[in-house]
Formats: sequence, structure tokens, C-alpha cells
Amino acid sequence: MAPSTDDKFIKDKQEISSIHARIKIFEHPFVTQINNPQVESFCSHCMRAAPQGQKLLKCAGCNFVRYCCKDCQRLAWKVHRPECRRLKTSFPNLPLTEVLFLSKIVDKVVFLKLNGDKFGWEKERKFSSLVDHKDDIRNDPEKMEHFEKIYTKTSAFRKEEMVSKDDFFDVFCKAAINSHSIHTNAGTEIGMALDLGISKYNHSCRPTCTIVFDGYRVCLRPLVIGVNASDLNEAFISYIDVGRSKYMRRKDLKTRWYFDCMCTRCADPEDDLLTAIKCSNSCCDEPLMTSEAEEPCSIACQKCKTVTEEAKVKEAQELMKFLPTRFDPNCPAEVIKDLLSKAENLLHPTNVYVSRLRTALMQLTGQLTVETISSMHKEIYSNYKMLEFWRPYYTEIKLCRTLILIFRIAICRKFDKNNRSPSDSDYKMSESEL
Ligand SMILES: [Zn+2]
Ligand SMILES: [Zn+2]
Ligand SMILES: [Zn+2]
Ligand SMILES: [Zn+2]
Repeated sequence: MAPSTDDKFIKDKQEISSIHARIKIFEHPFVTQINNPQVESFCSHCMRAAPQGQKLLKCAGCNFVRYCCKDCQRLAWKVHRPECRRLKTSFPNLPLTEVLFLSKIVDKVVFLKLNGDKFGWEKERKFSSLVDHKDDIRNDPEKMEHFEKIYTKTSAFRKEEMVSKDDFFDVFCKAAINSHSIHTNAGTEIGMALDLGISKYNHSCRPTCTIVFDGYRVCLRPLVIGVNASDLNEAFISYIDVGRSKYMRRKDLKTRWYFDCMCTRCADPEDDLLTAIKCSNSCCDEPLMTSEAEEPCSIACQKCKTVTEEAKVKEAQELMKFLPTRFDPNCPAEVIKDLLSKAENLLHPTNVYVSRLRTALMQLTGQLTVETISSMHKEIYSNYKMLEFWRPYYTEIKLCRTLILIFRIAICRKFDKNNRSPSDSDYKMSESEL
């Protein structure tokens, strides 16, 4: 017997309330930091924007950080006091965002050493228990060069309060591996945080949970039926942009977090649909499975038996490796159009490089709307069978929002040598700001 509407309503209500029971909220980050260029627009304590039509209150001590209200200023003072003093001394040089962030972590680590965990900062886990990949970082010349630069700048900022180089290296490595960036609901990156609770969550290219921000507060929400966001054995987040091929995802994870991803999606041969190439027989629509890193060889089509020659497979693989992962918003549409026609010539329509080029072109020509984003995302995600996981009552709009959120997480963990390399304009405060 089919359930009555009332039964369905009750069931939906139960499902929704059980989702609420399975979310996890983190509201005690170890350290947070607003990016220097956004300090005028977001409260340095709660990390929310100024209320409509109002200006943020400027700290009279350093004339730099801003707060949305007196309460936020009062709550931030314990953490800001030593920073405020150092900012005054280093005037007119403004330290890099990363230096301010690491310096706050150093303050907390020093305090914990002297006083123990008086305030329950380490309730979720101990700072000392964080993974640091020190050996990998030592063997990474680019990262070490960045460390030396940050060490010099942090020493100049902290002066006699600077800790030993070994102790600072410990903070630097732990922060590099465990921090995440903070975004507004519109997806703008405004700062970074180290949250000991969130740092416990592992990565999967097929995440079971998504992250939603409210200022520095983070809500971990299940994406999959029955998953409890508090259970580390079933709750996985994504550290990277999951709308990419296995080769690209694993390369990114290895460069930034020094591990080889062994998630269910990376082990799924079906995932190679995202790097499939076209059958040489122009009347055949069968995808030929390969990937960027596979040894090139001729492939016989399972459907029409046509053999696609090794040289053609190699050409397609090289094209995939050559295509840029990001597009400059000022790039002329003609350039993308040209790349897209090359890609469509060799790559199968399920290929993620084709989808991304199409998205980039639509973005450049202003054709990218909520509807087209939704259909593009669905195209990509149905290719690697994520959709079967969605709760059945998810409407189109919820689905679209969720997918956008996953994309957003992708840009969430980017505190690393490539994405956080600071510019010198970041360093010097402009006269007008002082
Ligand atoms: Zn505030
Ligand atoms: Zn101040
Ligand atoms: Zn993976
Ligand atoms: Zn074929």
C-alpha cells in the first residue's frame, strides 16, 4: 500500500530532524585571521560583514583591525592585545596575513606551554597531535624557501618574543597541513582558520559531508543518507575541487598535503569517464577509457570495434595535460573557443576538460546562469555517480546549492605555497589606511 500524504509528511519531517541531529557545528576555532585586504570589510572577531549601512569600529590602538560591535572587540582583546602592541611597533609596515596568523598560533602555543589548557582550547584535540609532514616539507624546496621568508618576516614582527626556529617550523608545518580558508556565503574568501576539531576530518574525492560557514563558525552537513557528521569513520570532507579528473585531484593532494589519495572514487575505474576520449569512428559515441597519466596505447572500441591509434590517444592525453586548470576572467573568449574546439575534436563529451572549457566560455560570454551551472554540475557529477547518494527529497534547487557548496569546499583548504604566496603590496600599508 502506498503511504498516505500524512505518512509521507511525517517521514519527511523525521528525515529532516534526523539530518539536524547529524550535523556538527564548530564554533571554537584555535586561531582565525581576516585577509589583510578585507580587514576593512569584515569583523576581525566574528568574521561577519558590517551590518547594512554601518561602518566597522576601528581599534584605536593599532588603527588596523576592525570590529562589528563593542562585544566583538571585547571578546577579541585577549588575542589581539599582544598583536596590537606589535602592530604599533612595526608601523608603517603591515605584516603579511600569514605572519599575523602564524604569530597568533605562536602566542597560543606559548600560553599553553606556560599555563596549560586553562581555557579548554584543546577540547577537540591537542595542538601537538596535529599531523605536520615535517619530512615532506623539508624535502620540498619551494615550501622551504617560503618557510625561510615567513620565518624572517615573523621574527621581524615578534622581535624578542620570537620562538626558536625549530618551534616555529613546527607551527608552520602544522598550520600548512591543517588550516582552512574561510568564505562568505557568496563564496568570497575572506580569511583563514585553524580549527582543531575540523582538522580531524579526512579527505575523500567523494565527500560525505559539506562545510557551510557563518563567520568563523563552521557547520558540517551530511550529504549522504545516514551519515553522521560527528563520526570520523563515515564523515569525509573534500580538501580540493572534486570536479576534476583523478590525475589532477591526486596531483593537487600530493603537492599540498603530501598523500596519495586512496578514496573510493580514486579506486573506481568508472571515474575515468571524466578523461574518456572519442572513438575514431565519427558515427560512434562510445567513450574510450584512458587517463592523462596512462601509458599511451591503441584502444579498440568495445561497441564498433574500431581501433584508435596510439598516436591519437597520446595526442588526447597531452592535450588534457596542457589545458589550464584555471582561466583568467580577462582571457579573450576566442582563446577558450579555440581550445574547446580542439578538445571537442579529441575528447568524449563526458570528459571533464570539455565541461570545464564550456563552463569557462559561458562565464566569459555572460551565459553562465544558475540553470546552466546546475546542468553543468549535474553533467559532471552524474558521470562519477554521485547523484545516487542524494536524498530522494532533494529538490532541484537544493541539489544545485549543495553542488555549489562542494565546489566551494574545493577552494576551502588552500593555505599553501602556491595559493598563499603573498604579494609585496600586501606588506606595506598604504598611507590612506593609516
Ligand atoms: Zn563581530
Ligand atoms: Zn589594535
Ligand atoms: Zn580520491
Ligand atoms: Zn566506436
